[in-house]
Amino acid sequence: MSHVVILGGGICGLAAGMQLAGGGRQVTVLEAQHFLGGLATTLRGRTGAGFDFGPHAYHARNQRVLDMFKAIAHDGFPARPKNVRIKFRGRYYKYPLEAVDIARSMDPLLAARAFLDYLSEVVRRKVFPRKLVSAEDWVTQAMGRTLYGLFFGPYTQKVWGIPPSRLAASFAQHRIPHISLWKVIQTSLRKGHAKISGTEHRYAPLVIELFYPPKGAGLISDRMAERIRAKGGRVETGALVTGVEMRDGRAVAVRFRRVPRTDDGGQLCLMATGVEGNVDPYTVNGRPGPEERIECDELVNTIPLPHFMKLLGEAVSPEARGAADLLRFRALSIVGLRVKRPNALPAQSIYFQDKTFNRLSETRNYGGSELCAPDETVLLCDITCDVGDAVWTADPGDIGRRCARELEEEGFLKADEVAECVVLRTTFGYPVYVVGYEQAIDTLMRELMRLENVVTGGRQGLYKYVDMDIASEMGLSMADHLLSGSTKQEAIATIPYEDRVFA
Ligand SMILES: Cc1cc2nc3c(=O)[nH]c(=O)nc-3n(C[C@H](O)[C@H](O)[C@H](O)COP(=O)(O)OP(=O)(O)OC[C@H]3O[C@@H](n4cnc5c(N)ncnc54)[C@H](O)[C@@H]3O)c2cc1C
Repeated sequence: MSHVVILGGGICGLAAGMQLAGGGRQVTVLEAQHFLGGLATTLRGRTGAGFDFGPHAYHARNQRVLDMFKAIAHDGFPARPKNVRIKFRGRYYKYPLEAVDIARSMDPLLAARAFLDYLSEVVRRKVFPRKLVSAEDWVTQAMGRTLYGLFFGPYTQKVWGIPPSRLAASFAQHRIPHISLWKVIQTSLRKGHAKISGTEHRYAPLVIELFYPPKGAGLISDRMAERIRAKGGRVETGALVTGVEMRDGRAVAVRFRRVPRTDDGGQLCLMATGVEGNVDPYTVNGRPGPEERIECDELVNTIPLPHFMKLLGEAVSPEARGAADLLRFRALSIVGLRVKRPNALPAQSIYFQDKTFNRLSETRNYGGSELCAPDETVLLCDITCDVGDAVWTADPGDIGRRCARELEEEGFLKADEVAECVVLRTTFGYPVYVVGYEQAIDTLMRELMRLENVVTGGRQGLYKYVDMDIASEMGLSMADHLLSGSTKQEAIATIPYEDRVFA
């Protein structure tokens, strides 16, 4: 029987494994952490309360994927209407921010300035059209410099840690709602009139309903693993992949090490690939454990693309290795608070510009009713950071208390109601779409297309800012391809880049 080794036990790798095991393949999943689900996990604190990597609510544009989630969480998967807010210039608005909200927050003088800026951009676009290279170019030409400076510039810098001038234009095009200045002005002149409804930007899923298992998001991944094991597959945790052996352009074996857990007191995990260079949570007393080797007929990768290229070593061209070096991730620390009150927030999540955290969420409001005792609630604070900076190295208690103080200022709780502070960390929270990253990705995709028995997919494996539904769809597609016996070229040659599900 053909043996498929899957690198990474996040939701993408597990979806692939489940499908392949169901299709009669011998499957081995290798996951570095002591738990499964990757970013889509739920980890337990001191009293057994569940903490997600930021709240992970399920939704899907693809019916096959939604049906799969529903079948897996058959004993409880309630849907709730989406209720997400943003605090902007002192007031709460529906998220994402709409034209009407920005207009409401402006006095007429500021609105006039924004409008003049916008008009000058419209004229400039017509008279001197220019190539849009960065997110800053894209936002200023779409909305004018005033709006850019008011919100998008500072917020983007905070979340991504680099100025929007270094982020690719395609990032803004895909992730930032398009705001019509005409609407802003109309609304500002019609204060008090009926709200002009805005739309979510065209690339974002129009999510109005979110599903969440009462015991936590990680339930789906755990059950996927159970299904793989039930079909005779192996799912190994604490197995850090350290190398891929290639012969004549084919993957023939994978090397891995048994590694210790990365939880440590209030730190519930530290996810890393082991080849970052500047962080290694896997060595015991500074010494790595012995390497093991496992042969494979086919290889499915879901670990971060640039790190996977390192594991391929000399089997890939220097050009591809150079391209991989251009890709970088923004690290993420999730601060989790167990709070002695049954409910704290008026929404599922709230975005902030002026707090330590970018987003604050209450999992109970997504449907996580069994995550903690009924008289308690769990709050999650998402903080983007860089490996080694003050947030990354902060003691869980210290950073938890800092977040609690900010929450008290906001009126959501009293700091002394916080019963537990935990931190979940990952070096690969978000792929950063830096200017020029598309060319690097093209180089890597060309290189990987040559490797017929190797497929890569998922949020990390394709370096794509996608949600669990797409990551799962990528896993299923990789499995479908391997089960079909078609060539990679046949399977994906017709898929346009934007919809690429694996390479
Ligand atoms: C803060 C935040 C909130 C989110 N909220 C939502 C949401 O509400 N809804 C939604 O649909 N999506 C959400 N997402 C997106 C979602 O988390 C991802 O799309 C999805 O979990 C990606 O799954 P994956 O398997 O592709 O990657 P991952 O979950 O990152 O899995 C990759 C796995 O590879 C393992 N690995 C890495 N290196 C090695 C190695 N050398 N050896 C062995 N294993 C290795 C990692 O430990 C990890 O388990 C959110 C993401 C973030 C960051």
